[in-house]
Amino acid sequence: MNRDDAVALDQADPLAPLRDLFDLPEGTIYLDGNSLGALPRATAGRVAEVVTQEWGQGLIESWNTASWITLPQRVGDKIARIIGAGDGEVVVADSTSLNVYKVLASALSIAAADSPGRRIVVSERSNFPTDLYIASSLCRDRGYELVLVDSPSEIEGLLDRTAVLMLTEVNYRTGFLHDMAAVTAGAHEHGVLAVWDLCHSAGAVPVDLRGADADFAIGCGYKFLNGGPGSPAFLWVNPRHVDRFEQPLSGWMGHAAPFEMSPGYRPAEGVSRYLSGTPAVIGISALECGVDTLLASEAYGGIEALREKSLALTRLFADLVASRLPGFTIESPLDDARRGSQLSLSFGEDGAYAIVQALIERGVVGDFRAGEPDILRFGVTPLYTRYVDVWDAVDHLVSVMDDDEWRDERFWTRGAVT
Ligand SMILES: *Cc1c(COP(=O)(O)O)cnc(C)c1O
Repeated sequence: MNRDDAVALDQADPLAPLRDLFDLPEGTIYLDGNSLGALPRATAGRVAEVVTQEWGQGLIESWNTASWITLPQRVGDKIARIIGAGDGEVVVADSTSLNVYKVLASALSIAAADSPGRRIVVSERSNFPTDLYIASSLCRDRGYELVLVDSPSEIEGLLDRTAVLMLTEVNYRTGFLHDMAAVTAGAHEHGVLAVWDLCHSAGAVPVDLRGADADFAIGCGYKFLNGGPGSPAFLWVNPRHVDRFEQPLSGWMGHAAPFEMSPGYRPAEGVSRYLSGTPAVIGISALECGVDTLLASEAYGGIEALREKSLALTRLFADLVASRLPGFTIESPLDDARRGSQLSLSFGEDGAYAIVQALIERGVVGDFRAGEPDILRFGVTPLYTRYVDVWDAVDHLVSVMDDDEWRDERFWTRGAVT
């Protein structure tokens, strides 16, 4: 494999035209779309229109005339197509952290009614910290214990005592991909509800919530959905649960008739009850552009075709690292069926952060995640990542190491966001 071979793969790639839907900076190899997705070309114009026309000219009328009020459901229906959910089952609202709270609280209420006496919530120690922080405060308030396992194999033995199993489908550090259908089926056999976080899977791998018969799901707008920094998040509730419980942050936008302005809360039917306050119109409008950009791939084979390319990209990355960078260990699963849309590496000595900084200076943007071990993380977004980007990124990494470039002092000062 040489650089010309990578260029040839791009020339033969049926998904290649999709890259044009993004406004990418010249000379940058962007491998961080799993942390902040790139800017779709449509977004700037659409956001300008929302601001200058809908807000500037339409003013408050736009809640009706521009249908701002139904944005959470409208964009939710589009996201549903990407995650195997149906119409009217997904809403866009709040952040992932808040949505974790809302769905986990609902799941605990259902578990308390259906399997009383179970006092534990199970998750993984390697789960994204905010999920664990939120779960632990909720468990504390409601008298549950949050039990964290170090390996998925430990889950089974706990299920008979478990109220809710809360997992993230694709691990943010390693890219490990759970088998959602099998894990959910195992949980259900023991009467356990399964809550899935799709932050690193929605838009990155095929997700089939209905097929897997999951109970609740949440996910992020600013990663593989390309909704922009701080984009609102989404949540899904299995229709069999949706009208059973009020969510705990019962705000007026989740009321059956918000403009009755009545002092008593009456939840809306369906997933709309999972709204709390006023929708973030500008943010959701930007998210809609990101989701539309992803849905444009439907003309090219959709998420299945994206998945195939994503796996080819991370496989190429892994092969090149294995042959050219002996000092690095691949921390992502080499089994295609278990790998999300990223490749994570660790380095034998202290310096992962500095290596990532040296790469960024060369225009190769990945990121660093502290832990045991420290991780150099490279996300691939098949909508815009090319084979030659992977080849060049590895080539830059080889140079950073061969010339001891990364040892330079300027790469060792940590920013507030890594
Ligand atoms: C990115 C991510 C989050 C982010 O939550 P915010 O509320 O948007 O800050 C949460 N959970 C997981 C698993 C993530 O990957």
